[in-house]
Amino acid sequence: MKLSSCLKGIRLPRPPAAADPQPLPAPEKVYLPLRQHQGAVAEPKVEPGDQVMMGQVVGASEDFESATVQATVSGTVEAIVQMPDPSGGMVPTVVIANDGADAWIDEPAATEAALASPEEVGATRPSRLLRRVREAGLVRAQVQGRPLHVDLSPPMAPQSYLYMTGIPVVRPIDTLIIKAVDPDPPVCPNASLLGEAGDELAVGVAALARISGASRIILALPSGADASALKAMAAQYEWETASVCQTSYPFAIDHLMVNSLTGREVPTPYGEPRDVGVSVQPLSTALDVGSVLLTGRPVVERVFSVTGEVKKPGVFRVRLGTPIGEVLDAAGGGPSQAGKVVVGGPMMGLAIYDLGTPVTRETQGVFVQSAPQVQHFADHPCIHCGRCVAVCPVNLIPSDLGKLCEFRMYEDAAEQDLMNCIECGCCAFVCPAQRPMVHFLRHGKTEVLAGRME
Ligand code: SF4
Ligand code: SF4
Repeated sequence: MKLSSCLKGIRLPRPPAAADPQPLPAPEKVYLPLRQHQGAVAEPKVEPGDQVMMGQVVGASEDFESATVQATVSGTVEAIVQMPDPSGGMVPTVVIANDGADAWIDEPAATEAALASPEEVGATRPSRLLRRVREAGLVRAQVQGRPLHVDLSPPMAPQSYLYMTGIPVVRPIDTLIIKAVDPDPPVCPNASLLGEAGDELAVGVAALARISGASRIILALPSGADASALKAMAAQYEWETASVCQTSYPFAIDHLMVNSLTGREVPTPYGEPRDVGVSVQPLSTALDVGSVLLTGRPVVERVFSVTGEVKKPGVFRVRLGTPIGEVLDAAGGGPSQAGKVVVGGPMMGLAIYDLGTPVTRETQGVFVQSAPQVQHFADHPCIHCGRCVAVCPVNLIPSDLGKLCEFRMYEDAAEQDLMNCIECGCCAFVCPAQRPMVHFLRHGKTEVLAGRME
């Protein structure tokens, strides 16, 4: 075991020890957006008035970059409406009134439920495993996560891929990192799953390794947490383990973790871990894969962390499609002076404006702020203190980039490696002039890409 740390970035308070997830009862209505991932919107496969059962497909698409959507309760389709997703866009959403029966569409076929051990998974064709992952509509658990079958497949467009990364060949994946650390604490759903060292995890990790082709498996565990069950499992299956400092932000971001744990540098700005032969998957995603292969059923729940200014912060096992407002109620409700509800963590999450926004496969938690805690950015000029330069984990000069973007000199900013910014928010966090650094940089990146598409 080696202890990994981050030289730059910022130090965050240690998140409280994660408790076991508490199950929440299914809501009276679920709201199932037909896009719960980065990619194409699925087409509705049901109509208002239809009776549906749990696991029944309610949305699907022929597009490769799309994930199938299944009903997470049994009941009646009430409507298909436009609803906001965490990024603020409107998405067609299937509304199902729950009949409370929790009746599954049918029992899984014996052949589809037969993969009960890592050995059986190892003897199964990767294409069959990948097909089952796709049919289950699994999505990599993160805001704007990709469908998992896309994440585990080689790139589809070699020409643009070569152009964007400058890498002449697609490198085979030889290393799988299972990330039991959370990139944006105190939203820590993965840390609350450290006790789940059972068949689901063994089968899920074996399947991810089989599909990706990885022979080396590294389990990245949060330092200081009780992960004895996972360590015992790692020893049994000959996985390597690494301890990752949770207070060192943004160390748990994929690119930085790959560099620290394997010594390989992910090419920037458009590269991905698979470009250097590494697949990184959250612990929750490995458990989802294991659950699908063991049961033959799609995943209908998400482990969801509620933290910040709520009366009873905690981690809940929530039915997909539950409105976030109902999960907040289960956590005792927000502050009297409402501030912000952020999907994701405080550093990289997205603020939502509608508490009816549902929990989806992408979302792993919310962070709640009261009104006095919300940071209001000011229109002050940079005072050249250099603090942002000292913390930028990818060694940019955020102060210069911020000014270039502020004054619309986007291509000049691009020449100074604007596109390498990982939008971690460290520069905005330390800026004494309270400049909206991430807003400047994110807008600048969008303008550069838009300009190059013309
Ligand atoms: S410039 Fe980008 S990568 Fe650097 S600290 Fe700011 S947000 Fe993070
Ligand atoms: S931290 Fe803020 S004020 Fe200081 S150099 Fe960076 S942008 Fe300028």
